[in-house]
Amino acid sequence: MKLLYEGKAKRLFETERPDELLMEFKDDATAFNGEKKEQLENKGRVNKKLSLLLYNLLEKEGIKTHFIRDVDEINMIVKRVEIILVEVVTRNVVAGSLAKRTGLKEGHVLTEPIVETYYKDDSLGDPLINSDHIRVLKLASEDEVNELKRQSLTINKDLTAFFTSIGIQLVDFKLEFGRVYPDFKEVILADEISPDTCRFWDIETGEKMDKDRFRRDLGDVIESYEQVLTRVEDAVLH
Ligand code: UDP
Repeated sequence: MKLLYEGKAKRLFETERPDELLMEFKDDATAFNGEKKEQLENKGRVNKKLSLLLYNLLEKEGIKTHFIRDVDEINMIVKRVEIILVEVVTRNVVAGSLAKRTGLKEGHVLTEPIVETYYKDDSLGDPLINSDHIRVLKLASEDEVNELKRQSLTINKDLTAFFTSIGIQLVDFKLEFGRVYPDFKEVILADEISPDTCRFWDIETGEKMDKDRFRRDLGDVIESYEQVLTRVEDAVLH
């Protein structure tokens, strides 16, 4: 199969169908724009499983995702989309770059969710941008930007309710969307939803259960990813 794209955590291959791609989840972990790099055994398997379970949950709530069907431990078939170069971050609690930018303490609960947009460009370090930048750089139309924000807030409601029910606080998360091949009109959720792209805190202990364990050298990275997976699986299966 022809490799179409290789990112930091995933690979996309062409299939015999022009409208379907194979998405492979890699074990590579990176942070700080690729400066910190490691192999984390089983990460691909855990993130694939978690993404799939969360896509299913969201599809039931009426959110359209790129997921088509499962293949094996680390691969799934997804719709071919043109990725919109705007990363959408939704935040419920202050952490990471929001703490740095505002001076608010990590852990401060926001009175309402904040939706932010970042330019998906590694060479620039994914800078924060607003809707004027998006329009002038022609990254997305105004309608599309509104749609990305609307869908992100709906997804935030659905995921927050779900994660609260399994004792996990959904602090913040990053989403990517794509325009569906071949006419590129419909915008759907693409990419992954995993501890690599979300901040999860245990409600009881406050323990971090996400990529911050890797970024901040807290240890037990994959063990906490697996803990998230176990809780999600238990909730979905029961
Ligand atoms: N995030 C991501 N990819 C990125 C940047 C951020 O998945 O390239 C996620 C990150 O894991 C967190 C949220 O988006 O859940 C907000 O990240 P933040 O802006 O605080 O940046 P960071 O502290 O990760 O630099």
